[in-house]
Amino acid sequence: MALAFTSSTAIHEQSKVSQLGKFQLLDQHKISSKLLNFSTRRCAVKALYAEPKRNESMVPSAATIVAPEVEEKVLEAEDYEKLAKDLENASPLEIMDNALDRFGDDIAIAFSGAEDVALIEYAHLTGRPFRVFSLDTGRLNPETYQLFDAVEKHYGIRIEYMFPDAVEVQALVRSKGLFSFYEDGHQECCRVRKVRPLRRALKGLRAWITGQRKDQSPGTRSEVPVVQLDPAFEGLDGGSGSLVKWNPVANVNGKDIWNFLRAMNVPVNALHSKGYVSIGCEPCTRPVLPGQHEREGRWWWEDAKAKECGLHKGNIKDESVNGNGNGNGVVQANGSANVADIFDTKDIVTLSRPGVENLLKLEDRREPWLVVLYAPWCRFCQAMEGSYVELAEKLGGSGVKVGKFRADGEQKTFAQQELQLGSFPTILFFPKHSSQPIKYPSEKRDVDSLLAFVNALR
Ligand code: SF4
Repeated sequence: MALAFTSSTAIHEQSKVSQLGKFQLLDQHKISSKLLNFSTRRCAVKALYAEPKRNESMVPSAATIVAPEVEEKVLEAEDYEKLAKDLENASPLEIMDNALDRFGDDIAIAFSGAEDVALIEYAHLTGRPFRVFSLDTGRLNPETYQLFDAVEKHYGIRIEYMFPDAVEVQALVRSKGLFSFYEDGHQECCRVRKVRPLRRALKGLRAWITGQRKDQSPGTRSEVPVVQLDPAFEGLDGGSGSLVKWNPVANVNGKDIWNFLRAMNVPVNALHSKGYVSIGCEPCTRPVLPGQHEREGRWWWEDAKAKECGLHKGNIKDESVNGNGNGNGVVQANGSANVADIFDTKDIVTLSRPGVENLLKLEDRREPWLVVLYAPWCRFCQAMEGSYVELAEKLGGSGVKVGKFRADGEQKTFAQQELQLGSFPTILFFPKHSSQPIKYPSEKRDVDSLLAFVNALR
């Protein structure tokens, strides 16, 4: 059934224009005239709930709203790099509109049940049809299911739920129990409950929309572009480059997302009012304290660098401890990097291998030590150089020694086995009366956080 544009449609669109006008004040970004010019929109809109051209991997009856047919626009990788640059300063609404316009029914929003509900609000504000899917891992909090229901009712949509393969879940739980992730890491369970269902969903799409933000994880999301060819998953046409990933809120910080959600009166997950920021599965998510980074509430028993569940694994670069990748430096054949050293100041002692081994042996050292295990080519080490140097200056004369140990190249195995090295940088505190070093557990590497850690243990 075709839906013609009538005067009532025009009124409907006009009301959306006024909504967008309201948003413009809040967002402070300029919304393109193209976005506001609804009269230029394509008129060949299918009726809502008409039988869509649907891909097998997504459940047809669960389609949120049928999107208009769009001309397929094939772009190369470099086009997306250029597009990402062009849209770098665009508002999330403009990016969302661009994404929905290009991909129509072949794009869907990935909704986790947390603050990425903002994506649904942005899609709604564009006035375009849109699809939403969620991964129901079977381990979500009741509050998240309640939010799914509230969102469906608020927007008049049906979320396309993706479930894990029952046989795979059975095999995992029967062989390893319900909480194996606490013992051998979250990857296996996430692979079964999240990554494979996601892969199935994406195989039915040409593009997807995520709520990734740069400020969510300094370790893994600091370079998220607003649009990219998906580095990890395949789309409908198969093969690398067959799926486009849109991250409309990549450049928005968490505070602004919350201002937007409040201003637009969007339903939110009740867990947020209980101290949860980043929300995933119930056993793997916990509230964070004021000042703690939101990703510290996820998989807290694991190393910070590995805090991606696999949904965005393209974010993780091979730059940690394998000696083959470097992030931004030149790596020589032996795994050491040909870049200038860092943490170079009189207040920081450069420790040799015997020096660190000595620290490990001493149970009664004269003063406690704070030591960073680093690699000069690692951009996360480079990023914390200023705060670590300042910290060393502050601790000068305090009785706490500050040191550094270069732990890449031929030292990496020793550092992994003896010094708890998981990724760079790793920060260790050697207390005065114990040989056992204590690993700094947080991704927050500002002076105040590091100082609080030292003061709590000295
Ligand atoms: Fe399993 Fe936890 Fe991953 Fe959920 S977040 S899929 S429970 S490991």
